[in-house]
Amino acid sequence: MINVLLVDDSRFVVHAMQEILEELNYKIAGVAHDGLQAIEKHKECLPDVTLLDITMPNMDGLECLCKIKEESPEARIVMLSAVQDPETIERCLASGAAGFLQKPIHKGNLEDLDRLCAAIENAAGRTI
Ligand SMILES: [Mg+2]
Repeated sequence: MINVLLVDDSRFVVHAMQEILEELNYKIAGVAHDGLQAIEKHKECLPDVTLLDITMPNMDGLECLCKIKEESPEARIVMLSAVQDPETIERCLASGAAGFLQKPIHKGNLEDLDRLCAAIENAAGRTI
C-alpha cells in the first residue's frame, strides 16, 4: 500500500482528497496545512508520495518542495494545485517535483481519478 502525505491549506480540499485517496486504497500517512508543517510531517511519517499544494500561507509549495528535496533528494513529491501558470509548473518540475496535477480532483470524475492514480503510481515507481 502506498503511503501518501497530503498537504493543502484548504481543509475542504484535504477532507475531500482524504476520502478519495482512501477509496482508491491509498494510505494517508499524514496531513499538513502549510509548507512548514509539511517539512516536519515529511520527516515524521516518511511517505512514499507527497501531494503538495502550491499556494499556502507561511511557506508555499515551491519553497517547501525545494527544502524537502534538499534534505531528502529521494522524496517523491507531486504538486497538486489550481495554479495554471506554465512558468510555475516548469519551476516545480525543474526543482524535482515528480509530477504536476491540476486541481480540482472530483470524486465522481473517472478522468480525474485516473490522472490522480497515474501520478501517484508513477511517482512511487509502480505501474498500473
Ligand atoms: Mg492552497
